[in-house]
Amino acid sequence: MQHERNRYLEQPGLLKVQVALGDRSYCIEIGAGNVGFLGPFLISFGDVGHVVLLTDGNIAPLYAENIAEHLAQNDLTIDMIVLEPGEESKSIAAAECLWERLLEIGTDRQSVVLAVGGGVVGDLAGFVAATFARGVRFFQVPTTLLAQVDSSVGGKVGVNLTGGKNMIGAFHQPLGVLIDTQTLDTLDDTQYLAGLGEVVKYGVSLDASLFELIESNVELLLRRDHRLLTDMIARCCRIKADIVEQDERETTGLRAKLNYGHTFAHAYETLAGYGTLLHGTAVAIGLVDAAKLARELGRVDDAFVNRQIELNQRLGLPVRFDGVDSDQVIDLMLRDKKAVRGTLRFVLPSKIGQCELVGDISPDVVKRIL
Ligand code: NAD
Repeated sequence: MQHERNRYLEQPGLLKVQVALGDRSYCIEIGAGNVGFLGPFLISFGDVGHVVLLTDGNIAPLYAENIAEHLAQNDLTIDMIVLEPGEESKSIAAAECLWERLLEIGTDRQSVVLAVGGGVVGDLAGFVAATFARGVRFFQVPTTLLAQVDSSVGGKVGVNLTGGKNMIGAFHQPLGVLIDTQTLDTLDDTQYLAGLGEVVKYGVSLDASLFELIESNVELLLRRDHRLLTDMIARCCRIKADIVEQDERETTGLRAKLNYGHTFAHAYETLAGYGTLLHGTAVAIGLVDAAKLARELGRVDDAFVNRQIELNQRLGLPVRFDGVDSDQVIDLMLRDKKAVRGTLRFVLPSKIGQCELVGDISPDVVKRIL
């Protein structure tokens, strides 16, 4: 087994991102076709005998069933639970069914909850792992681009309430994360593009060299080139991990920088109706609006805004939210937790790859750019 793990670790093209959190750390391993090495990876943590594999109905036939078979060949006992695909599964009701099921199948300290899927499966599985028996171990195999660059990094897990997304949750860091870029081959274009929205966000707000890399490789990125994706995903994970390492529980305000473009995006998602506009797609529009707002405030020039618009257009990402009612957008933003006494706060750029949280912005200024 150790031999197989060593063989895997010597593979060319495998990238690793170490996430160090106080006295704990874990590794994100990114490559093409590496999911076949998951068994030895899990076993390397020691004392793993039982895997509770959580997935959804779309991913089960594509990947999860093969993964379960492969893990069984590694002498692990597997219980696979298949959820309904979609945001509705991220609920207290679904969590409760899972808690009961985990009890029935004898989940204990030798068990690992393994999430194979997008952000919905990852958030729910992580939440169930964080809460069952006051916490069992958890491992992620994210299969959407959004989950690979964002939701599987950082330890935020949770479920939705009818009245609010992600209102119930915990911080529960995984044992590890294994990202196989080949799983992206089956992702539909809309989901893939939404993930790219988040990738562009990292570049424009936190890493100029990533932004330039995207600009010079649009064709390859749209063709889902595995080598490029491995590199870009690793960069995004590193950027997020750097921030999470300094502000794991969102206490210093640093983690807010990851939300560049999100104040606009959340308002558009709500106005469009949840599930109509994908989160990453809304973020892509939010990036353009944050750039325009920064220009309105004299922080960036026309060239900055045009560069953002041009990149979105080349990638096939939208640049505006159609039918926007500016009063409704402002209303929603004022209800956001970042609003302070009738003024708004935004993460805004000062140049490509650099952003700050800026407060005291009048709603009238925001209205002018909508
Ligand atoms: P998702 O999990 O709903 O997946 C999108 C769709 O793609 C689903 O139908 C799924 O079955 C399908 N799918 C997944 N992988 C596939 C593949 N490889 N091939 C074909 N189909 C595949 O959506 P998502 O965008 O991955 O995640 C959204 C969720 O992530 C939201 O609930 C959001 O709140 C959460 N999120 C969490 C964090 C965090 O820090 N925890 C960060 C960002 C987003």
